[in-house]
Amino acid sequence: MPLDAPVREEFAALLGPADVIDDPVRTRAYECDGLTGNRVVPELVLLPRTAEDVAGCVRICARHRIPFVARGAGTGLSGGALPVADGVVIGLNRLDRVLEIDVENRRAVLEPGVTNLEITAAASPHGLYYAPDPSSQQVCTIGGNVAENSGGAHCLKYGFTTNHVLSIEVVLPDGSVVTLGSDSMEQQGPDLRGVFLGSEGTLGVVTKITVRLLRTPEVMRTLLADFPSVAAGGQVVSDIVAAGIVPAAVEMMDALAIEAAEGATGAGYSLDTPAALVVELDGTVEECDEQFALVKDICDRHGCTRLHVAGSPEERANIWRGRKAAFAAVGRISPDYIVQDGVVPRTRLAEVLERISGMGDEAGLRVANVFHAGDGNLHPLVLFSAADGETERAEHLSAGIAELCVEMGGSLSGEHGIGTDKACSMPKMFGEDDLAVMNRIRAGFDPDHICNPGKLLPTPRLCGEKPGRYRPHPLEEAGLIDRL
Ligand SMILES: Cc1cc2nc3c(=O)[nH]c(=O)nc-3n(C[C@H](O)[C@H](O)[C@H](O)COP(=O)(O)OP(=O)(O)OC[C@H]3O[C@@H](n4cnc5c(N)ncnc54)[C@H](O)[C@@H]3O)c2cc1C
Repeated sequence: MPLDAPVREEFAALLGPADVIDDPVRTRAYECDGLTGNRVVPELVLLPRTAEDVAGCVRICARHRIPFVARGAGTGLSGGALPVADGVVIGLNRLDRVLEIDVENRRAVLEPGVTNLEITAAASPHGLYYAPDPSSQQVCTIGGNVAENSGGAHCLKYGFTTNHVLSIEVVLPDGSVVTLGSDSMEQQGPDLRGVFLGSEGTLGVVTKITVRLLRTPEVMRTLLADFPSVAAGGQVVSDIVAAGIVPAAVEMMDALAIEAAEGATGAGYSLDTPAALVVELDGTVEECDEQFALVKDICDRHGCTRLHVAGSPEERANIWRGRKAAFAAVGRISPDYIVQDGVVPRTRLAEVLERISGMGDEAGLRVANVFHAGDGNLHPLVLFSAADGETERAEHLSAGIAELCVEMGGSLSGEHGIGTDKACSMPKMFGEDDLAVMNRIRAGFDPDHICNPGKLLPTPRLCGEKPGRYRPHPLEEAGLIDRL
């Protein structure tokens, strides 16, 4: 049911007509996130400039029970920012100020539309940086990072977004504003900050974030090592960790991913190797020297065919440019691809990669692998051609890989979230009781189910219901059933 004119006027009166987009040509720009196979054109896109305006927008939505979806940069890969039919998108990009860099207490206070990389850019003149570094960090926003509990190459040593966010200001789905967490990390009562982190925009809209900043390490040693097989690379990762070394990052790429990334960036990866590892050590000079000797020894033991150590900050940046460009670069070797995201126990990496390769052969599709090897977080890229009718096969293979990760004792997602993409697979990982508890928490924040509905948890859809704007079921209205 389209939004009626008086509601549209309420939004326009609050924000000004220029900040409310209803032209279908322009709203189409918001029809999907990085999961481009799923598209819904929103009724309206709202572009508030202040936290007060965000709260005002949410209050109007609450009053009229209009579903809303918060959106940062739209780089999400699980359909979390996919609009809801008959709903509005609240774009947070205009709330883009770094409000404070508190050098003494090593904290930054940010609006949600600040990009991940801008935080480090603002902190680095003070010898500080923000640790979680998704490969999309040039464009993804801290609001999106909070919602997805995003990770990145350096989360192996330093932890995910949740380990770096001290407090958040949130507009709840009824329009009220609360602060969760505290800047001193003192926690009274249940950890609602922790509940919100990774809730994928389903519990409210974040309007202010206080994050921890770390001191820039004294030195960083980055090496690129080639191996005769993915299995050998995987064994190196296990041995490094077993030796008690916690590198800042350990990333692996297979031949297909290298071909794509090297073609796009010319970063210096070998084109004739089946697998390459990027290992980064950081800390004091003594620490890095000692660990480097151990890592080199482990690499040699597993048949390393080339070991290149970055000799300058520019060379280091170049190695990372190749790794971080890998997802996008895959577009060079395939017209379409799905980025999968799952976790397996590190010790089963080689076994799982072999199974994935077999599944790809069976489906007649290529799978490129680029992943955070240190924490077993796989990103198989399923390559296909929609024009050649391969979409269904690719989706089936991709879903099969996610479920394989669960079967192997891992998880459906390491960092890209569940979104719309994997909501249906949640019962593979969680029992009915678990999902019921999660639904109850969600209903506690959002009893009217208007805040990013249909994402993360399988929708408790009742008989005869269609997707779209929430409408009370006749049985609910009669008081005969309770959704949750
Ligand atoms: C090339 C590429 C590489 C990537 N690499 C990584 C990686 O290494 N690690 C990783 O973890 N992810 C990675 N991602 C995924 C993605 O970048 C992250 O999930 C990122 O955090 C999304 O941020 P965003 O601003 O684009 O959010 P969006 O995509 O706009 O939104 C993501 C989710 O957050 C919600 N949301 C956004 N802003 C708010 C807010 N202010 N309040 C409440 N909810 C909000 C949305 O509703 C949605 O559910 C990658 C994506 C791409 C395209």
